[in-house]
Amino acid sequence: MAIQDLPVVTSPFTPQVSDEDPLDLIEEIEALKKREDATILAHFYVGGEIQDIADFTGDSLKLARDATKVTTKTIVFAGVHFMAESAKIMNPEKRVLLPDLHAGCSLAESCPADRLKSYQETLRAQGREFETVAYINTTAAVKSLCDWIVTSGNAREIIETKVDKNKEILFVPDQHLGRYITEVTGRPMILWPGSCMVHEVFSLQDLNRAKKNNPGALVMAHPECPPNLLSVADVVGGTEKMRQYVFARKEPTKFLVATEANMIHPLQKIAPWHEYIPVPGIMTDTGETCACNKCPHMALNTLAKVRDCLRDGKPEISWQPYFEQARFVLDRSLLK
Ligand code: SF4
Repeated sequence: MAIQDLPVVTSPFTPQVSDEDPLDLIEEIEALKKREDATILAHFYVGGEIQDIADFTGDSLKLARDATKVTTKTIVFAGVHFMAESAKIMNPEKRVLLPDLHAGCSLAESCPADRLKSYQETLRAQGREFETVAYINTTAAVKSLCDWIVTSGNAREIIETKVDKNKEILFVPDQHLGRYITEVTGRPMILWPGSCMVHEVFSLQDLNRAKKNNPGALVMAHPECPPNLLSVADVVGGTEKMRQYVFARKEPTKFLVATEANMIHPLQKIAPWHEYIPVPGIMTDTGETCACNKCPHMALNTLAKVRDCLRDGKPEISWQPYFEQARFVLDRSLLK
């Protein structure tokens, strides 16, 4: 069979190129928002053109909280699946739409609910007493099996004030974040071996090269990055902490930013007097930098798909029986 006869296989991550005019799409979206009584929430990691038309932008925690303030009947969640699930959990009566159902998360997927459940059973059978603490980047099914949900912004507070001091901690799914929180709180943890495909590929070699080329620049890194990278960072924090930090710093500064590349957009918006340089991911064989610092799941969100989901009323996140327990855990962890 000649190569041209082979069937074309498209990955969910195949870039979606639209020849539609972005301005026309934005007009259509505005009209559909009114028609469908909808509010758009967008994560800091989706493209800037979607963040610009959103009613709310933020990190996972802020958007989970913002979702409870929405007064319209429909929420469009431009982000990934577990985030839209959280919005549905906090708003059972609302219709929650996700522009692309394939928008998952490598971190959430590294901890499937059935494997977590069986590991918890093994620990209990060994007589170990523990509480399970989950990073918010987990599926609703996993959240329903946990005692606490944390974000990079509130993990320290929850672990120091709420988690039983007489028990061990099983931390899922991000080993790098867990290790970082152990350092900050001094509480040892059993770490689930998960990680984010985007933050995992930042290379220390690239960062050191960027530092050499930009003397005096400060390094800002997300705690999902591996420890060798965090050890050379000047500021370690989640996306909201990054925004607060650059806003508070009035002296124009050059920042090397080690997180998803679209994060540069909200940083530029809130503190345009600084210069932001995204830290590249790994080098390819040809010596060029690949686009590894872009999350392929987040990139599935496009203006055309935001329009389509509003127009067609799908894909929609449907209520699942375990959402009730996930809601209890989310509520006591994040919203009080
Ligand atoms: S950047 Fe990483 S943690 Fe965030 S959605 Fe993408 S894969 Fe998941």
